Amino acid sequence: MRGKPIPDLHPATPEIPYLRIRFMKAIQELYPLLQTPRKVVITTHQKPDADAMGSSLALSHFLTKLGHQTTVISPTNWAGWVNWMPGVNKVVDYEQQKEKAEKALHEAEWLFCLDFNIFHRTKTLTVRLKEMDCVKILIDHHQEPDTPSFNYGVSDTAKSSTCEMIYDLIVGSGHNDLIDENIAECIYAGVVGDTGSFRFPSAHAGVHTLVADLKSKGLKHPMVHEKLFDNFLENRLRFIGHVLLHRMEVFYEYNTAIISIPKSDLLRFHIRTGDTEGLVNYPQSIQGIKLVALVIDRDEERKWSFRSKGDFDCNTFARTYFEGGGHFHAAGGRSSDSLEKTVEKFKAVMKENENLLQ
Ligand code: 5GP
Ligand code: MN
Repeated sequence: MRGKPIPDLHPATPEIPYLRIRFMKAIQELYPLLQTPRKVVITTHQKPDADAMGSSLALSHFLTKLGHQTTVISPTNWAGWVNWMPGVNKVVDYEQQKEKAEKALHEAEWLFCLDFNIFHRTKTLTVRLKEMDCVKILIDHHQEPDTPSFNYGVSDTAKSSTCEMIYDLIVGSGHNDLIDENIAECIYAGVVGDTGSFRFPSAHAGVHTLVADLKSKGLKHPMVHEKLFDNFLENRLRFIGHVLLHRMEVFYEYNTAIISIPKSDLLRFHIRTGDTEGLVNYPQSIQGIKLVALVIDRDEERKWSFRSKGDFDCNTFARTYFEGGGHFHAAGGRSSDSLEKTVEKFKAVMKENENLLQ
């Protein structure tokens, strides 16, 4: 049997079958290199949310101002409530525009990976990104990042959002003056999205200082809130009413609420990408609830979302039981079991974890 591999500090050492760099340099080492224009691809996780899309577009606007040629590639489509962001009309949907995406990926000298910790969060792009041998840069705030796959980067779970980290990059590289209204809107949207409108513990003092700076640069924050939260069709609100009435179970003895949504509900209410965002937060308004679990019967899998309060660690829970992960208070996971089976499993592990839920 072979022993534990000795870390290899030569950045370009290939390891079959994919390139493993093994040593991620600090993002600050990239700053001097920003002055030389390159061909850049920026990508993010599947079904990009406000933080994923906002950080990708903010970085794209910034690098374009420095003379770089940038392409933002999303692994999949995205919700209507991010479709207002400045520059979103140029984002390439990998599933819909493969040829255009492939051309940009083929030419890329730099690949920025934003708001995900591990390549498989990019769905069908996963293998393609792993195989690329250009300079790869990670900017992310999720737990347990795959840093050996990146040449440069920053991974910091203390950051509220990837958008905050893009702001840090712009300011840290000496370009605060390049932040305009477009960049400010994109960054603000991601910060609002990932801090639950400034209510989660991740909204530290620096987040408010950042917002003050964006405001001084012309940010019109009410518009961003309207676009993110008042931008749905009537059917989505009716769907929420239906789900809370018929699909939610509350287990007071475990301080847990679960919502499970069959595919028939998605069809009946014409639910589109992004319409289920935020649903997992509703049961948190019930007194005493510590853990909320939402599972949706998607075509290819049963997709879980977990939210917690206090000392319950959703990341560990999702990783242990549902092939997922994320943050301490917000994580996701998946199952290939039927909806009924995966819900049964949840109830069993909820009981197993009774002590942690008190
Ligand atoms: P959501 O419930 O909003 O989909 O995701 C909550 C958090 O967990 C997000 O930060 C998201 O990136 C992360 N997350 C969601 N699904 C998965 C998953 O399947 N694997 C991992 N590692 N993280 C996930
Ligand atoms: Mn994020």
